[in-house]
Amino acid sequence: MQITDIREQSVAMGAAMRNAVIDFSKMTVSAVAVVTDVMRDGKPVIGYGFNSNGRYAQGEIIRARLAPRILALSSEEQQNAAGDNIDPARLRAAMLQNEKPGGHGERAVAVAAVEIALWDAAAKIADVPLWRMIGGDEAESRVFVYAAGGYYDAEKGILGLVEEVRGYLAQGYTWAKIKIGGASLEEDMRRIEAVLELLGGDGSRLAVDANGRFDLQTALKYSAAMAPYNLRWFEEPGDPLDYELNAEIVRNYPNAVATGENLLSLQDATNLIRHGALRRSTDYLQFDPALAYGVTETIAITAMMEAEGWSPRRFIPHGGNLLALALTGALNLGGCESYPGVFQPFGGFADDTPIEDGYVSLPDAPGIGFEKKAALYEVLLGLS
Ligand SMILES: [Mg+2]
Repeated sequence: MQITDIREQSVAMGAAMRNAVIDFSKMTVSAVAVVTDVMRDGKPVIGYGFNSNGRYAQGEIIRARLAPRILALSSEEQQNAAGDNIDPARLRAAMLQNEKPGGHGERAVAVAAVEIALWDAAAKIADVPLWRMIGGDEAESRVFVYAAGGYYDAEKGILGLVEEVRGYLAQGYTWAKIKIGGASLEEDMRRIEAVLELLGGDGSRLAVDANGRFDLQTALKYSAAMAPYNLRWFEEPGDPLDYELNAEIVRNYPNAVATGENLLSLQDATNLIRHGALRRSTDYLQFDPALAYGVTETIAITAMMEAEGWSPRRFIPHGGNLLALALTGALNLGGCESYPGVFQPFGGFADDTPIEDGYVSLPDAPGIGFEKKAALYEVLLGLS
């Protein structure tokens, strides 16, 4: 059993929208194929992966450092102890040879794209869905999802924003998230109030996301203005690595704070839990498996949370793709973000699993299930 090739291609996300900080129209991702010499139905088993939205393609790191380290290993060195599958954790360790600790950044994103493809291949070789392979009998085959959108669009205005959220409800979602921090505080409160009116005034069905935009004073002003709405959560108020700022906001905001999508390692996640003052019974963590080194790191992050007294239900990953969905089911996380209709073709779930009452079923296919999303599979097939 041998990995014979690792291919990477930069693909445009094609998302014409902006949050408080970035414009997504030039966003790219690395799509990766890991080709094995294991044959099924006359064809080699190929694992696919890609990084999540927000960090661009990582082709240079993959081609110059990560892929050669895997391809240099012997067949025995690529396999598990039983010799019946490739060993993604061992291959991940090989990718990180000669890499210094810390400064995770782009490298964490590059490793994630390849490592996800390794796990997809391993689950296909084992002929089981990845969520079942990792979660066993404890895995959940149906997962809560919420609609993340509400990006800024001058032409659409507040009426358009409300129509957008109404559309999510019609698609089967039960609550939504919109952006803040890209307009004045007054304008943002008008946006929130308009959507709340649609939701019958129920703040638990609306979250807001500042994308790390605010300094402490601005975040505190927003905290005070939003407290009466009892929103589901206030996401990424300030710089994701400023744990003291996070702690100060948590101490001054009565409702939930959610953060973590821009922390790309177990160590960063641990530091957030140690120093961010987040409350185990109130707040949420949103680490993104497809940005933060992939599957193995996410399993370790979940174990760290539990060791620190946190329920995995407080972990609702960023990403809105089939990999985040698989890990949510496998690790009994609290739910999964979804971006209806955007970040295509990478965002979203299987074509035959509609959203029903805020839940979606996991694909019952070997691997992560990318083959069950036709537009995505077409792009991935371009790698082989
Ligand atoms: Mg966010």
